[in-house]
Amino acid sequence: MAKVDLKDLDLEETRTWVEKIGLETYRAEQIRRWIFGHQAGSFEEMTNLSKEMRHYLNSISYVSQLKIAKTEISLDGTKKFSFELEDGKGIESVLIPERAHYTACISSQVGCAMGCKFCLTGRRGLNRNLKASEIINQILQIRQSMDQPDRLTNIVFMGMGEPLANFWAVKSAVKNIICADALNFSRRRVTLSTCGLVPEIERLGKELPINLAVSLNAADDKTRNLLMPINRRYPLNTLIDTLMRFPLTKRGRITFEYILIRDINDRLTDATKLARLLKDIRAKINLIPFNVYNGTPFQAPDEGRILAFQDELIRKNYTVIIRKSKGTDISAACGQLTTGP
Ligand code: SF4
Repeated sequence: MAKVDLKDLDLEETRTWVEKIGLETYRAEQIRRWIFGHQAGSFEEMTNLSKEMRHYLNSISYVSQLKIAKTEISLDGTKKFSFELEDGKGIESVLIPERAHYTACISSQVGCAMGCKFCLTGRRGLNRNLKASEIINQILQIRQSMDQPDRLTNIVFMGMGEPLANFWAVKSAVKNIICADALNFSRRRVTLSTCGLVPEIERLGKELPINLAVSLNAADDKTRNLLMPINRRYPLNTLIDTLMRFPLTKRGRITFEYILIRDINDRLTDATKLARLLKDIRAKINLIPFNVYNGTPFQAPDEGRILAFQDELIRKNYTVIIRKSKGTDISAACGQLTTGP
């Protein structure tokens, strides 16, 4: 029988599992404290468990870790981690320094099936879904590498993959990310970004209390069809209708990411259309100037257009931030992550 990776289980599942193997329920919390709090990599380290118990646990379960294949540091302090998975496949994650804290941008799949035309990850296609443990391990290992791990306060699912296409594992991982006896992040500081999988957005709203970001990138179906194949399945009116019903906290807003691409979606008329499209949603908008990479047919917008686009939205009372991608010199910026080693 295959051994159970204890990092794949949330609190309830761990309790059920320890009962099933004949241990007292409280052992679940004890074991989880070792795994997530002390980041124990083996049962040998769990010194408040008897030798027999450690031996027994070791025979039926394990505590996985990812292998760091490579790290690169950008001139702006952004750090990219290339991880090697158990089956030799690779993923990448990014640690981004902000003014007072750090954000970890993590992956949910090896590759991605969504095929967004501006995205390097999408061009490689989907290899496989990540397990919950592989999602959690990215954060644990990034945290372990930091001098001040407490300053890692924000998690964004904006790395490789469409997180809602791997719903079950992402949900399980998020439960541990926000669980007080595991990674203990505030749920208000965990954000999931989607290209617009409508049924799963509805499910997310019902099942997971975290922030939602939508990678929009166009305010009309013709342009969005060109950039994002998912729009043919869930066109803008369906997507917007669903987002209008998405449950938000009192001061919560949905973040819309809009990659500005020269002569494709960066005109003033596009900004006006965007303002009209989002008028019934509590929204904030992140404008991201396109990062040019080898082989892309798209170009970066010019500075004047970026500012004019922002002004037009601000005039319509939106909160708009221009997010210059960090880590471009080490290919760690938005849409530049690949399948690593
Ligand atoms: Fe996938 Fe996101 Fe890239 Fe689209 S932008 S292909 S959803 S990783």
